[in-house]
Amino acid sequence: MNYIVFDLEWNQSNEKFNRDLGLPFEILEIGAVKLNKKLKVVDKFEVVIKPQIYHYINYITTKIVHMTKEELENGKPFPIAMNEFLEWCGKDYILCIWGTSDITELQRNMMYYGMDMLADGPLLYYDIQKFFSLAYEDGKKRRALETAVDYLGIEKDNPFHRAYDDAYYTAKVFQRVNSYKPKTKRYVSYDVFIAPRSRKDEIEVNFKTYSKYISREFPDKMVAIEDPRVSETKCYECKRAAPQRIKWFSVNGKHYFCVAYCKKHGYLKGKIRMKKTDDGNFYVVKTLKLVSREQAQEIALKQDKLRLQRSEKRRAKKEN
Ligand SMILES: [Zn+2]
Repeated sequence: MNYIVFDLEWNQSNEKFNRDLGLPFEILEIGAVKLNKKLKVVDKFEVVIKPQIYHYINYITTKIVHMTKEELENGKPFPIAMNEFLEWCGKDYILCIWGTSDITELQRNMMYYGMDMLADGPLLYYDIQKFFSLAYEDGKKRRALETAVDYLGIEKDNPFHRAYDDAYYTAKVFQRVNSYKPKTKRYVSYDVFIAPRSRKDEIEVNFKTYSKYISREFPDKMVAIEDPRVSETKCYECKRAAPQRIKWFSVNGKHYFCVAYCKKHGYLKGKIRMKKTDDGNFYVVKTLKLVSREQAQEIALKQDKLRLQRSEKRRAKKEN
């Protein structure tokens, strides 16, 4: 199996009309490095794409995209470039990127041109930005690629911000993370441009310190939150049902919290993020994490505070 570390350059529309075309980000360049299973660089790939939608380059983007007009005019149409890329990728590979957005935008561009998607549902990938944070920081901070390169003392022999160069540096960081803490690779990510189609396609992964679940699509939030599999709380250490001490409550309509308790392993903090798809449906990303009693108490306080705020709001409304 190979690792395909890739990066994209794109042009962005700042007009609402263009956003409504369904393609807010038009990809202009794909750059990639192929690593074998020992993480040795075995090949490189680079293709420039001729813009079809946004023929002017946004001023803001121009500062980021370091490409000339001539270069773009001589580029290939997206479907041809993309097929070349896929052929180059081969059959057995894991995609690796810096951050979380490139696979979604790649698939959005593919859908725009009526191409087959990369997968029928969520697509497993490696987020090297997350790996860097897990290996060298707290696992939460998100650093710029150049910051990571500087931190690791990687030689800056290429400029930044061209797709190939950024893919090259991302691959370098990946190599370093892997030799320092190879188990970081367990912390896989999923691109959910296409949510699970059915219950059997839903994703459930147990990481060492938390579990993650990605649900199928639901027509609305209420149906989603009331689904038994969405609302259930299982301890990821012993796989047993953990009854809820504080039932799921919404913070802002997007995030929900709960506290469950496993007799053997203690308190579990539950968090649900409600995600909207391009079609207006909803799917759920649920995480469960073993926490201390104090951390569980914080959630209880959060709920109390919300209740207080809501009742004050109601009272203020009545008085007006
Ligand atoms: Zn347990």
